[in-house]
Amino acid sequence: MAGSRSAAPRVGVLALQGDFREHLRVVGALGAEPVSVRRPEELASVDALVIPGGESSVMDKLSRTFGLAEPLRHAIDTGLPVYGTCAGLIMLADTVLDAIPGQRSLGGLDIAVRRNAFGNQLDSFETDLDIPQLGAPDVHAVFIRAPVVESVGDDVTVLASLTDGRVVAVESAHLLGTAFHPEVTGDTRFHRYFLDKVRDHMERAHV
Ligand code: GLN
Repeated sequence: MAGSRSAAPRVGVLALQGDFREHLRVVGALGAEPVSVRRPEELASVDALVIPGGESSVMDKLSRTFGLAEPLRHAIDTGLPVYGTCAGLIMLADTVLDAIPGQRSLGGLDIAVRRNAFGNQLDSFETDLDIPQLGAPDVHAVFIRAPVVESVGDDVTVLASLTDGRVVAVESAHLLGTAFHPEVTGDTRFHRYFLDKVRDHMERAHV
């Protein structure tokens, strides 16, 4: 990993497709060094990665075309901190329900997610979520053709659920995922939470 204890973490954003620019902006505004990741060399240079929202089936295809899928799997397996939002959460899920034929995820999070879980009538919506780990006030969450987490493994912590109990934010070791889009609301608490994880990870790596 490229970082040292004193340097700002280099935080990559997978920039194949989707709303990667918004994440680059937030990461930079929080004092980390934002890096667009499209090639394996760029991935190898970062201390952490954000996988943005977009369209997971397209991201899957492009990651294979660009020779990034296997390096991404290896990075996830070997402890790179990764935060996935929406399509990014789908990419991190071990199991994807309602995937298109042939669609693969990267995996890492022991969860099953269902794509486009809110159907056509409720394609996009906003709601407030009580997330104890982030404190008050509630997090205003924007869902856009969002997935839900249908099941979680023993090592996965649920961070947020809708009032009907459906899970929309999870964490497990070095991985974080939200079905919604904190990068579009101006509330940076999820990105800060992720950067705290990244700094912890970097410090442990230097002990
Ligand atoms: N429905 C998209 C997918 O399946 C995700 C939408 C989003 O990232 N906003 O990948």
